[in-house]
Amino acid sequence: MTRRESSGERRFLPYGRQSIDPDDLRAVTEVLTSDWLTTGPKVDEFEAACAEAAGTRHAVALANGTAALHAAMFALGIGPGDEVIVPALTFAATANAVIYQGGTPVFADVDSETLLIDPEDVQRKITPKTRVIIGVDYGGQPCDYGRLEAVVADRDNTARDDIVIAADACHALGGRDRGRPVGSLATLSTFSFHPVKPITTAEGGMVTTDDEALASRLRLFRNHGITTDHRQRAESGSWFYEMVDLGYNYRLSDLHCALGISQLRKLHPYTERRQALAARYRRLLQDVPAAVPLRDREGVESAYHLFVVRLIDAAHRRHKDEIFQALRQRGVGVNVHYVPVHLHPYYRRRFGHGPGLCPRVEAAYEEIFSLPIFPAMADEDVDFVVETLAEVLASISTSGARTEPSPRSHR
Ligand SMILES: *Cc1c(COP(=O)(O)O)cnc(C)c1O
Repeated sequence: MTRRESSGERRFLPYGRQSIDPDDLRAVTEVLTSDWLTTGPKVDEFEAACAEAAGTRHAVALANGTAALHAAMFALGIGPGDEVIVPALTFAATANAVIYQGGTPVFADVDSETLLIDPEDVQRKITPKTRVIIGVDYGGQPCDYGRLEAVVADRDNTARDDIVIAADACHALGGRDRGRPVGSLATLSTFSFHPVKPITTAEGGMVTTDDEALASRLRLFRNHGITTDHRQRAESGSWFYEMVDLGYNYRLSDLHCALGISQLRKLHPYTERRQALAARYRRLLQDVPAAVPLRDREGVESAYHLFVVRLIDAAHRRHKDEIFQALRQRGVGVNVHYVPVHLHPYYRRRFGHGPGLCPRVEAAYEEIFSLPIFPAMADEDVDFVVETLAEVLASISTSGARTEPSPRSHR
């Protein structure tokens, strides 16, 4: 791994960052001079590689993770009058995708220690209108999909018997639950290849599923609702096509897919590096009892898209903004994932939501920070982050008054 120069200014450590190597550059430039810039052979190849990584029969590439969620809601038949249960602690896109299709997102609370959707709260929120439950693999740790299935099987008799469990696995490519890869843990799983995510195609997304009918509806949706794509027509020598449903242009280009194929080859070392950085954080943070990492469920291997800590002292929580600013000033690019979706102005206005709807999500929002984690980070970067965090937290006295941290250089 890269070593940081031992002198001079330390550069800003973002919370996440892509790794692009010469083989990635080669993969992209090869496509640029080929016959197909979009919807050519690289799409099929990337889909096959993602299906293999996820352990599913099908993978469908989409323009981005949000398009993947939107397509998933279409494929599952979500429409007006349907309810989809989502955790309130997620990126807004998870819930927005439900609304794109005319459905209603219903917000569930999370477990305070894992920040994963709480199956018991899901059970309370199931109604006769519930069609889908979307688990979000927060931070890279897969949800307990077995428990969600059990909750659905245990439904009261007014609930539908065809409630589907879906995964927003945008954080979790490379993760596993009892050896089973993320992507194969729910009826369908969505991924994002945004630069901070486990692998990148700049913009890009994917849905993995074993269900052939869902896969063909996803393909239809990404290409205007048209039954064949341009390449299939070119190859069959036919001009005829029909639009059988209202779809979008949500295609992912061959350029993006070539980058994805090259990146996916490195998923395993990337994941291992993230896991090693997380293990180092956990070890060093034992000396910083005020900052508590999330709990990993037993038998789970997190993909560690995020490394999230909770500030467990009320005095620190009161000064969260100050702590946030102090860390950033010292080069630690902390972030907060996420503003609870139901508290966004749009959701307040449209659904009348406000504080109190998901108390554990709201409490978590007051105490969470995402610390930098990405494959190119050095061990020394982790040491620096933890050292800086300890100093900044110590500078906030328990009485709540801020004392200046003693100036010192780190290298
Ligand atoms: C990144 C992300 C998305 C959206 O993916 P894009 O590729 O940015 O559209 C959706 N859900 C979650 C949980 C994400 O982290």
